Amino acid sequence: MNQPSESELRERIVFHAASLFQRGYAPGTSGNISVKLEDGILLTPTNSCMGYFEPTELAKVDFNAVHVSGRKPSKEAILHLKVYEVRPKAMAIVHLHSTYAVAVSCLEDLDLQNAIPALTPYYVMKIGSLPVAPYHPPGDKELAEEAATLAELHAAILLANHGPIVSAGSLDAAVYASEELEEAAKIYLVTRNLNVRNLSQTQTNNLNI
Ligand code: ZN
Repeated sequence: MNQPSESELRERIVFHAASLFQRGYAPGTSGNISVKLEDGILLTPTNSCMGYFEPTELAKVDFNAVHVSGRKPSKEAILHLKVYEVRPKAMAIVHLHSTYAVAVSCLEDLDLQNAIPALTPYYVMKIGSLPVAPYHPPGDKELAEEAATLAELHAAILLANHGPIVSAGSLDAAVYASEELEEAAKIYLVTRNLNVRNLSQTQTNNLNI
């Protein structure tokens, strides 16, 4: 399959950003999306609402985080760049401050290896496991370093007291996995004080991932 052109990718970012905003996945000016190009990444601009921006406003930065064109990039650009560095096959990253995933990221007794248990096969197939990166302020270099260490082995990571970051081989796949993660977080919290049955190891092993 041919790689989409830069202008197609710009249009697609705007489409997904608006869609995520309209459905409440990216309140206010939170959240950012990036895609990888041959010479850098395209990233949603800093301090902008995901619901409203033009394709030409997207920030372009090279792999050394130097701003090339468009508006100023999100301060979380460094986080995106570090994840691309350790995941050469990743072509897109979605980072959201979506309510339920953020709520899970604030729990005191999180399993740091996998913040959300295997309740549904969809979560297991789209996310697998969700390790937690310890809290650092947004835009902090240490946050990017720690997230990248986990991203070497995991497509999705939860930043403590902050939110999820999901990478995939295409923008569509990264968006859909982010939505699945938010749903899984919601199901986990809704069922948290109920007697639930997690999928067994054998059941998760038998999934066609
Ligand atoms: Zn953030």
